[in-house]
Amino acid sequence: MSLPKPDDATTILTAKLSTLTALVERLRAQQAKSYELLEEIQAVLATEATPGQLAKRALDRFVMLWRERYQAVFVVNGAKDIAALKRVLRVVAPDDLDRRMVLYLRNEEPFVVQAHHSLAVFVATVNRYGMTRIAGRQPAAEWHCAHSPRCPHRTACEVVSARTTARA
Ligand SMILES: [Zn+2]
Repeated sequence: MSLPKPDDATTILTAKLSTLTALVERLRAQQAKSYELLEEIQAVLATEATPGQLAKRALDRFVMLWRERYQAVFVVNGAKDIAALKRVLRVVAPDDLDRRMVLYLRNEEPFVVQAHHSLAVFVATVNRYGMTRIAGRQPAAEWHCAHSPRCPHRTACEVVSARTTARA
C-alpha cells in the first residue's frame, strides 16, 4: 500500500475527466431526448382543436361535400351553422359526423333533395345517419307523426320535431 506517484495521480485525474466528459455527453443526449418528448407532447396539445375549430372544420367539410354534389357555391350562415354543428359535435365524434355527412349528401329521399341537402335538415336528422347503413326508405310502420298538420315525409317530421325540441 503506497500512495500513487505524481504520474499515477495525473493518469487517474485524466481518466476521471474523460469519464466525466462522456457522462456529460450522455446527460446532454438524455436531455435532448426529454426535449424531443416535450416537443412531441406540445405538438399533440397544440393540435387539440377547440369545439369552435372542430365545428369550423366540419362546416368546411360539409361545404365541400355539398359542392361536389351540386357543383355550385354553398352560402354559409357562419355563426348559426357553426353553433348548430358545435351542438352536434358535443355528442357525435368528428369522424362519425364526417361519415354521416357523406351519407346525407348521398340521400335521395324527395324531402332531402327538395331541401337541397340543407345543413339545417342534416343537423335536424343527424341521428338517422348514425345507423350502420342508410335505409333508403324507412318502413312506414316506424314513422308516427304527432304533428298537425300531418307531415308529408318522415324527414319533414324529424325536422319539425327537432325544431320543437330546440325551442323547448
Ligand atoms: Zn310530423
